[in-house]
Order: sequence, then C-alpha cells, then structure tokens
Amino acid sequence: MRQLTNYINGQRIAPQSGAYLDNVNPATGDVFAQVPDSGAADIESAVTAAAQAFPDWSKTPAHERSRIMLRMADILESRLDEFARAETDDNGKPLSLARTVDIPRAVKNLRFFATAILHTQSESHVTDGQALNYTLRSPRGICGLISPWNLPLYLFTWKIAPAIATGNVAVAKPSEVTPVTADMLADVAIEAGLPPGVLNIVHGLGAKAGAAIVSHPKITTISFTGGTVTGRAIAAVAAPMFKKLSLELGGKNPTIVFADADMKNALPMSVRAAFANQGQICLCGSRLFVERTICEQFTKDFVDTTKQLRVGDPLNESSNMGALVSKPQFEKVAQYVELAKEEGGQILCGGSPPAQLNDRCKNGYFFQPTVIAGLNHTCRVNQEEIFGPVVSIIPFDDENHAVEMANATPYGLSASIWTESLHRAHRVADAVQCGTIWINTWLLRDLRVPFGGMKQSGVGREGGDEAIRFFTEPKNVCVATGNN
Ligand code: NDP
Repeated sequence: MRQLTNYINGQRIAPQSGAYLDNVNPATGDVFAQVPDSGAADIESAVTAAAQAFPDWSKTPAHERSRIMLRMADILESRLDEFARAETDDNGKPLSLARTVDIPRAVKNLRFFATAILHTQSESHVTDGQALNYTLRSPRGICGLISPWNLPLYLFTWKIAPAIATGNVAVAKPSEVTPVTADMLADVAIEAGLPPGVLNIVHGLGAKAGAAIVSHPKITTISFTGGTVTGRAIAAVAAPMFKKLSLELGGKNPTIVFADADMKNALPMSVRAAFANQGQICLCGSRLFVERTICEQFTKDFVDTTKQLRVGDPLNESSNMGALVSKPQFEKVAQYVELAKEEGGQILCGGSPPAQLNDRCKNGYFFQPTVIAGLNHTCRVNQEEIFGPVVSIIPFDDENHAVEMANATPYGLSASIWTESLHRAHRVADAVQCGTIWINTWLLRDLRVPFGGMKQSGVGREGGDEAIRFFTEPKNVCVATGNN
C-alpha cells in the first residue's frame, strides 16, 4: 500500500505523531493509501523551512524561478498518464477526464505563472511636475495554501504556481480526501531542483493541519478554496490577525436557457454543465432555468440526453461519469434527493445508484445523474449547494423573472446564459450577480481573467494579474522632482 509523506525542507518526512489516515479509492471502496495525519508540530517545521528559504528565493531572479517552474511543468507533463491514473484512483473521476482536463491544467498553471512573471509591468504616476510615484511589488512571505478534493492537482497548483512564481514560499495542504497527486508533486519539485523550503506540502485533516496553517502567526497570506462554511471559519480566525485572505467558496450556479437559444449547443452543454466530474465542480450549473414556452420539450430532451450518460468504472474509457469522491459525499447527495421528494419535486431520472456495476466497482460510491422538476426556486434543494450530480429544472416567464430567480441565492460564483439575442445576452450578463458569466458556453477558461465569486461564493479574485497582485505587497515610493 502507498504510504504518503509530508514534503518539508526538500525532504520527504513522516508526520511527527507517526499517525496516518486511510485514503479510500471511491470507485472500489478499498483503502489504497495511508495519509500523514499531521498537526501543529508538522506545520511548525514547514513554517521554519519556509522562513529559511524565503530570503534567497525572494531574491532569485524571475527568469531563474521561471526556469525551475517550467522544468516542473515539463516533468509533470512527461508523467501525465501516471498522475492521471493516481487522480482517478484517489477521486473517482473518469480517467479520460483526469488525462484531458485535470493534469494538463496543472501543467498549464505552472507554465502560465512561470512565464507571467517575465512580463509583469510596474506602475508609475507623475504628480503635476512635483513628484514621481512608482510602485514596488514584493513577495509577501509565507503563504498558506489550502485546496479541496474535487479538482485535486488542478486547484493545488492554481495556488502554488502564482505564490512561488512571485517569490513567496508556501505551506500547502491538499484535501485529506484526495492527497495522492499532491504527494507525487513533491518528486516533481525535487527533480526540477526547486530549492528546499520553497514549497512545503503537509497532509492532514482540515480541522487540525488546516487550522494550524490558518492560525500560524508567521503565515500572513491565506489562499483557500473549499466550502462556504469552512471559508467563514477560516475568515473568523484570519481576519483579527490581519492576514491577507483569498476565499474561493461554493456555488449554486444558474444555467439560463431562453427560447431562442441554439439548442444543438444549449442542450448538450447544459447537460455537461450539470454533470461533469459527477457534478462536483464549483462551476457546475445545478439550477437550470428554462423559458416556459420551451420548457416541456427542453426537459424531455434534457432527460433523454442525461439517460445516455454512462456511469461506471472510471478506468473504462466509455464511462462518462465515475464515482462520487467519498461515502459522506454519496450520502449527502442521496439525502438531498430525498429532501427534493419531501419538498414536492419529481425525480425525472436517476435518484439512486446505478443498478449494474462491474465487480471491481460494486462497493464504490456511484450515483446516477439526477434531474428534478417541480421545485420552487426558494426551496432548500434549490438554495443549498449539493455538489453532486443533481440538477433542478425551473421554468421562467421572461427575462426579468429569470434574472430574479438566478440571483435569489446567497451564492454568486458563475452562470451560463443561452440565447441568440446579442442585446439580451449582454443585459442578462450585467444583471446576474456572479463572478463569471458564460454566454453560449460553459467552463471556457482563460487563465488571464479574474476568477472568483460574489456574495457567499468568495472574497477576492484569482487568475492572471489578480493572483500576482494578491501574492505581492505594493509599496509606493514618492520621489520629489521639483519644489514641494
Ligand atoms: P472543505 O471546505 O471541506 O475543505 C477544503 C479544504 O479546507 C480541505 O483541504 C480541508 O481539509 C480544509 N479545511 C477544512 N476545515 C478547515 C479549517 N477549519 N481550517 C483550515 N482548513 C480546513 O471543502 P471540500 O474539500 O468539501 O470541497 C468542496 C467545496 O469546495 C464545495 O463547496 C465547492 O463549491 C468548493 N469549491 C470552490 C471552488 C471555487 O473556485 N470557488 C472550486 C472548487 C471547489 P480536509 O479535506 O482534511 O477537511
């Protein structure tokens, strides 16, 4: 069985407690790895290593930091199949998805920020002939990076890459539910020649290892992606310590389909938006608003298309959907389906685990893609984040009605709007309160754009210049150029 280690000061080391947690393959239900159950003492070692590495790394020229990170990207890319298989075993997602989305995106994250730092600009402002102001940006020091289980290496590297590219050092914790590719990343860092202490990876539970990162006084910057409830708890600890905080939290994203939409794209894409990665993407469209005049036909076509999705062994190339990430996640999804029934919803398809699975997967946490109709947009199923393969279809009368319902949740992460009317597309994009709006597409990402949520979906933005700004501290220097 695979035994993971922490990666501290360039070394693979066991947790100080000597304790390990079981890591389960969700497609089989079998324990396949042991994860360090780290605590405050391990975080302390990681902080010490990071603090020692910071003076040199922060002064290492950008082109050298870039060279090492590009080497990490190349090594990762050369091991794509190995990483994809580990991600699938750890997370339950289809191998085809890990191979085409998760691991390639992790490579892109490293390359994007390794090269972005070679092209940054600095600002200067001339004050009426009296002074020249220029802005220095310095790395902030030790950054605490905490990521979730749904896109394990993709989101882990989305934080690590901008943090270390800009000259910071990091103490990073992957989700204890999906730690394996983060563990493998340590080998990539060692082979690429990343100096010891620049990146420290500490495994363990959120409430223990994660909480020790958040409360550590020397970690002044926290970038967290995860649930809104956890984000609130982290903010409560970090805010009184005046830490710089980025929170990427949950979503309850609307997909809005107008009667004039191009159905050959709107239909398959809204199915994909609902069920990609078993519905476990923060950007999944779990509330599907459809214009009333087409709702009956659209619902029928949506259900027919959903029924064609194959749920099964994630190693099988023909599976469109794999297993949910864990038993608790499986139970949560099943409970929400029961709640939907209590709330008066009709289950149009799915609603239970698939009837037939191969022998390898008979104890796995699989759930069929589930389509619900007949629920009010204010009920719990349409307000709370389920984070699973469950979508609720809700008819709307006109544009204002669609916008009103789309905005009527505490979340504001993303939305996709389907219409052939240019004017309406722009109007609705402006009116919907979400950090990302897709028009006639979904999940098309340009890493340069600001990424993040409004309302309870988060605080701050990641991506491109936003990330570089987040991980650096601006300082204004005002030089008198004339008489004061
Ligand atoms: P959690 O909030 O449970 O956990 C996220 C990470 O935080 C994990 O590493 C977890 O460790 C850790 N953690 C938990 N409690 C604490 C704590 N008190 N202090 C510090 N760290 C802690 O989220 P999930 O892993 O369940 O991920 C799913 C959630 O992530 C969904 O709500 C989803 O919407 C959101 N998400 C948001 C995205 C965005 O960009 N906005 C992108 C992807 C997901 P452990 O696993 O050990 O508990």
